Amino acid sequence: MQRSDACRAGTVPSVTSGYLAIDLGPSRLAAGILDPDGAVVVRDRVATPGRNVWPATKQLVSRVMAANPTDVVPASCGVTCPGPIERGTGAMKPVGMPIWHDFPIRRELQQLTELSVEIDTAGRGLALAELWCGEAAERTPSEQHFATLSLGDLVDGGLVVNGRLAQGLTGNLGQFGHLIVEPDGVECECGARGCLEAYAGARGIESSTGRELRRTPPAIVERTGIMTARACASIAAMLDIADIVIGGIVPSVFGERYFDALAAELDQRSRLTHLADLRVRSVGVRRIGPLLTAAAIARAADAAREAQPAEPAPSPDAQ
Ligand SMILES: [Zn+2]
Repeated sequence: MQRSDACRAGTVPSVTSGYLAIDLGPSRLAAGILDPDGAVVVRDRVATPGRNVWPATKQLVSRVMAANPTDVVPASCGVTCPGPIERGTGAMKPVGMPIWHDFPIRRELQQLTELSVEIDTAGRGLALAELWCGEAAERTPSEQHFATLSLGDLVDGGLVVNGRLAQGLTGNLGQFGHLIVEPDGVECECGARGCLEAYAGARGIESSTGRELRRTPPAIVERTGIMTARACASIAAMLDIADIVIGGIVPSVFGERYFDALAAELDQRSRLTHLADLRVRSVGVRRIGPLLTAAAIARAADAAREAQPAEPAPSPDAQ
């Protein structure tokens, strides 16, 4: 029965609570609605405009909400965006993107959607998605130790220890894109030289080749694998991690040649005996895409809210 038929018949249509997922990137804005199992039921995307990013985002989100043909109704909203994130105000402060600085994206989206909104980076969202739907989901929390690297336009990551996403001092743990992988290397948008992001982010790769990502020469694909391996060796040694999950558009476009170069370099760079079993693996790209990553942020925030003890009633003595 169609929803309108159900209304005419006076019955209450059944509604399933899902997630509104939004992925804000320097080259693309995407939004979608996902069901409670992480399946995308409606999606849309646009190229990121050079200016007026917020009006374009607002239009996109409104269009997705209006286009939803299903009974899946978003109960919360998750957003991936460039970090670092100012947690108090819910604003972004990404390096090299001053136009996005200090815009209170969380508050604006809360007003637009009337949902609770949680924002985080793609790499930290990837960690939450891996806990939800990836290989790590099949392990017990005490066995869930891994790091993620998200290689999109920008590069960042996350760290899971004992089944929990580690936060760091400001809730921004995981800016692995600025690990130095080539001393005196090319300049990064942050102003330093030799950062992973300059070699393994889509923007850095495209600006170094002058070509779109799919037309990257094989030598640069291999160099990207080598630079990723150097970062992975440092991450593993520093964090006592033997499982690193790689996601994002760059590895999914570069494929086997990239992962072969990565494995060969990792063999040279990671020699600690306690990390002899270090695995650097691709996320299942079909299972964990950008919208699932954003929905995972909403799902984790919902779980955290539910786990919080209820506010105690004020005692009469406190009056
Ligand atoms: Zn940098």
